[in-house]
Amino acid sequence: MIDFELTEAQQLLRQMLRDFALQEIAPGAMARDEAATFPHALIPPMAALKLFGIAIPEALGGGGMAAMETAIILEEIARVDGATALIVASHNALCLGHLYRFGNTDQKKRFVVPLAKGEKLGAWALTEPESGSDAAAMQTTAVRTTAVRKKGEWMINGSKQFITQGSTAGIYVILAKTDRNKASKGISAFVVERDTPGLVIGKVENKLGVRASDTAALHFDQLRIPSENLIGTLHHGFQDALQILDGGRIGIGAMAIGFARGALEDSIRYAGTRQQFGRSISAFQSTQSKLSDMATELEAARLLVYRAALLKDQNKSFHLAASEAKLFASELAMRATNQALQIHGGLGFMKEAEVERYFRDAKLCEIGEGSSEIQRMVIAKALLG
Ligand SMILES: Cc1cc2nc3c(=O)[nH]c(=O)nc-3n(C[C@H](O)[C@H](O)[C@H](O)COP(=O)(O)OP(=O)(O)OC[C@H]3O[C@@H](n4cnc5c(N)ncnc54)[C@H](O)[C@@H]3O)c2cc1C
Repeated sequence: MIDFELTEAQQLLRQMLRDFALQEIAPGAMARDEAATFPHALIPPMAALKLFGIAIPEALGGGGMAAMETAIILEEIARVDGATALIVASHNALCLGHLYRFGNTDQKKRFVVPLAKGEKLGAWALTEPESGSDAAAMQTTAVRTTAVRKKGEWMINGSKQFITQGSTAGIYVILAKTDRNKASKGISAFVVERDTPGLVIGKVENKLGVRASDTAALHFDQLRIPSENLIGTLHHGFQDALQILDGGRIGIGAMAIGFARGALEDSIRYAGTRQQFGRSISAFQSTQSKLSDMATELEAARLLVYRAALLKDQNKSFHLAASEAKLFASELAMRATNQALQIHGGLGFMKEAEVERYFRDAKLCEIGEGSSEIQRMVIAKALLG
């Protein structure tokens, strides 16, 4: 039985984040988007609120919260700024999540603590130019040649693309083939520190949405790392990565809710003030229908996201629930932001109305961490076996 009522502490967290997002993150969000400027100045105040170690125990420098609190936080940040929400979501769920879930005690001390405290940002590198949805087809290799084996090292060669925090991270989790004769069962995860010789930061992308977040290519040119940088079990990195993605999908769903809520709230405000044909456009039934659909679907999406988060927090299987939540919330975010643009008319098309930014940012949710097509494959597999 799942109880969807937020606890008093969760309600307080939501209010605190709402105030913080409005006062600290919202101002400048449009300007950062326009110039594609990474929000460096926001990192220290967000770190002080434990936003870079949300679900990490306090003993390791984190906030000691869980998936439900992560969803609440991401909705509030995405409500005002998708780029900042993506930074928080990817750092927590992917790089930090992988190291905390599968790293050993020493790795937790060395890497989880600075990430959780927000002293360093994390990036998680799976996608490659030739392998996106089919991630197990990756070409990046990690080998132990005779020369490197003597030193107890791994040598990584290859490239990754579209990596969030690719050019700004201090700590990278990199997935690489450790057995070229195998597909998903020959992949391992490694932790790599910035400034390691052979880690080359490539093209920084100029994007449609979440423009102030950092998306970059990475190249590994004879990148040598010590054997203790292997995370988890050799050849088990892909299975571990899939579990990490399940958690990440709840976060993307929560971000989608934030975009849809922005679309709805701005549309209600605008529809009440914009006059045409001698009355406010909110008096027209077609406007009311749009608002009603947006509000109803938003509530449904939030319930799906909360359900997946609560299942995770109760240590129950949440693989299917996470895909369902991400799929529905992402597609709702596109529908809602599209309708918001329509309600705003010509103004919606202009930069001065923020709904055009919500619309552009929302598109990421249908693509990142498994596209909608991939979520449908996951759900169908669960249905059909
Ligand atoms: C802003 C942004 C940030 C990102 N951050 C990261 C990151 O931090 N780390 C990381 O590793 N990756 C990251 N990615 C990459 C992202 O996960 C991939 O873009 C995504 O998984 C899709 O892969 P692809 O782009 O190669 O598209 P493709 O896999 O080439 O897909 C192209 C189209 O084909 C469809 N398709 C593919 N296979 C099938 C199928 N079997 N059945 C039906 N349709 C199919 C897809 O749904 C899509 O519509 C990021 C992407 C973006 C846009």
